Amino acid sequence: MSALPAWLTDKRLSAEIEPLLRQTDDESLERLAAEAQAITLRRFGRIISLYAPLYLSNFCSSGCVYCGFASDRTSPRRKLDTGEIEKELLAMKALGIGDVLLLTGERTAAVGFDYLRRAVEIAARHMPRVVVEAFPMSVAEYRGLAECGCTGITIYQETYDPDNYRDLHRWGPKQDFLERLETPERAITGGIRSVGIGALLGLSEPVGEALALLRHAKYLCKTYWKAGISVSFPRIRPQEGGFQPNFTVSDRFLARMIFAFRIGLPDVDLVLSTRESSAFRDGMAGLGITRMSIASRTTVGGYVESDAASASQFEVCDDRSAEAFCAALRAKNLEPVFKNWDAAYNNPLPSEERA
Ligand code: SF4
Repeated sequence: MSALPAWLTDKRLSAEIEPLLRQTDDESLERLAAEAQAITLRRFGRIISLYAPLYLSNFCSSGCVYCGFASDRTSPRRKLDTGEIEKELLAMKALGIGDVLLLTGERTAAVGFDYLRRAVEIAARHMPRVVVEAFPMSVAEYRGLAECGCTGITIYQETYDPDNYRDLHRWGPKQDFLERLETPERAITGGIRSVGIGALLGLSEPVGEALALLRHAKYLCKTYWKAGISVSFPRIRPQEGGFQPNFTVSDRFLARMIFAFRIGLPDVDLVLSTRESSAFRDGMAGLGITRMSIASRTTVGGYVESDAASASQFEVCDDRSAEAFCAALRAKNLEPVFKNWDAAYNNPLPSEERA
């Protein structure tokens, strides 16, 4: 493997939050929660922006040991055709959703760049914000997606430990640790406005993983200050294949990690998905978390067919309806926001045309 980037091991970038993560007592957790809540209120107000995932396909060429879509799983494979994509988007719109995350596995002959670009084009006709979570691409490919209306990408490194990474990614293009690590920068260079990063918590020792993730976010924020960086906190959930994580990440540690990240990254969106329980999500909303998924279906075609036959990537834990989740946010005096981006911002007119 080529040399690792300097930021990955630069402890100065994570010195502020390391002691916060290593504390274990109740009082320090409460202090962190209060500080994180105050920063969140000051920087983001009471708003929680909402999005929902749309699984386009469960084809995949990689063998990630922790994933229900890995190419050795035996569940049926499926990809949505253009008519089905449109129907799924309409079903999501009927739930009020205006911010969609399009997902696929690694490139295959069935699902590659052209398919994804077409899906982005369709989604951009219906949704003001279209984010893609798929395979790493070249700068030219990201430019192509941005021109079709893609406003952001999400790409989790899964683990920042290169040795664990090698063991967990048994085959396929995702085995390339550095190519994945450099993906956010290629996307931003290609004109993608926002990039979400994260580690799949449970794959490696949690404190080391949190520190590496924070360094990555700090490096991106400093180097690409015009881009919007967000950080997610996915914990491993049960999935086809039955992989058991090597490390336990408790609710208390995850809460501490979220609070510490809010303190270390005051202006960055922190994201929590429906992988987590309703109680945990309700507790974290507004205490650091500013962006959450809602009414998620993790099967291909799951919004139109609630009993879609394809495998899910992982089990959803918070399965409340959009109404029930929004009611829970409002009960906490938080404001759910379904649309905080307008398509007009995607391609602003040159100043002479605006005059
Ligand atoms: S995590 Fe992504 S690349 Fe890995 S097997 Fe699952 S879908 Fe494929």
